[in-house]
Amino acid sequence: MGARVCLVHYHEIGLKGKNRSTFENQLVTNLRKALQAFPVKDVRRISGHLLVSCADDAVTDELARAVAQVPGVARVSLAFHCALVEKEYCDAAVRALGEAGDFTSFKVHARRSSTTYALHSIDMNRLVGDVLCRAFPDKQVRMHKPDVTVNVNVVNNGVYVYATSGPGVGGLPVGTAGKVVTLLSSGFDSPVATWMVGRRGAVCVPVHFSGRPMTADTSEYLCRDIVDALAPAGMVGRLYVVPFGERQREISLAVPQSLRIITYRRVMFAVSERIAALEGAKALVTGESLGQVASQTLDNIAAVNEMATMPVLRPLIGSDKQEIMRRAQQIGTYDLSAQSVDDCCTLFMPRRPETHARLAEVHAAWDSFDHDAMIDDLVRDVEYVDFDQCASYRPPASLRARHRDLLPASEGN
Ligand code: ATP
Ligand code: MG
Repeated sequence: MGARVCLVHYHEIGLKGKNRSTFENQLVTNLRKALQAFPVKDVRRISGHLLVSCADDAVTDELARAVAQVPGVARVSLAFHCALVEKEYCDAAVRALGEAGDFTSFKVHARRSSTTYALHSIDMNRLVGDVLCRAFPDKQVRMHKPDVTVNVNVVNNGVYVYATSGPGVGGLPVGTAGKVVTLLSSGFDSPVATWMVGRRGAVCVPVHFSGRPMTADTSEYLCRDIVDALAPAGMVGRLYVVPFGERQREISLAVPQSLRIITYRRVMFAVSERIAALEGAKALVTGESLGQVASQTLDNIAAVNEMATMPVLRPLIGSDKQEIMRRAQQIGTYDLSAQSVDDCCTLFMPRRPETHARLAEVHAAWDSFDHDAMIDDLVRDVEYVDFDQCASYRPPASLRARHRDLLPASEGN
């Protein structure tokens, strides 16, 4: 009847000329990386699809689920790969329809990517349809909106048969849209924001500001676990950690209480942009959502935004918290973000933070301490942890100091 394979579908809109092969090659590379733990024999292109084949027929639902989480994958089908022999592909069609679950109507959709096969696709529809009608006498054939479509694709000298497919995350393969630095706290929003730009093809380099040494390093471990949770999507190569506690103390002594948070954020933006420059990243990403909390009013966003010279992407700016939480659940970061830990945001919190910062006051506060020296020091002392999940991440040559303790969980920590 033929071996089980996994057929990967992607949206072809906008995929023309050179774009198309760049997209397909990157998706092949990313799938290989994402499926490292599976006994995958081959990932390759076959006429408008990608094909994942495994040793020992190990093409399982679990494999399909892993494939579905890779950006660029629109749908995934478990198919039978048959020889170009009528009996073989008809048997596979019976088996595929038998596995389709509850349904009342179906149709057959045959296609020939190579026309060397004598039988026309209309004749194949009829042939396979007759076999299926005999095998499933109580089911109806319906051409318009059937419950199940049995696909029979002739490619080269083989036939791929499948009846069901599950949705993938969509988007574009990571590595096709450049690199971004994402400001990652352990809250709900920034992991989701990171995932969203990663899904659009960007390699993500998260930067986390921790309250160390004034707080424990728990938030750093949480951020590491969040990056591990994002591993199935393969978008992060490295996490930067900036111990910020001491500097926050200095800021809290220098600036008016109500402007502390804005000042912390300005420093975060400046340091993140410096890291972005080292990394060759072209934008910053935050998890801000308009009006969600006091610091996310337009006035405050403007007061922080002026620190950045590169574009700042805010993929959640128009999202409601409920939508963000749902997405966090879907991508596996919800339970981690639900843990409340002290990070630099809970450190030296003012009683009444400014909600509509006036730029003149922000600037006066900014000039009341040696911000340039602080930013230089923070960049110099930045630590990092590498992750083996992203096929396209290239680290900058100029940084050498690895984080001393924070090995990825996958390395047995
Ligand atoms: P999140 O759920 O992502 O923590 P939030 O709703 O708590 O967001 P804020 O705390 O105001 O909102 O943070 C706004 C954005 O600033 C975050 O989404 C994140 O991008 C960035 N940010 C906040 N704290 C940190 C931090 N400790 N390290 C790095 N980035 C941070
Ligand atoms: Mg937060």
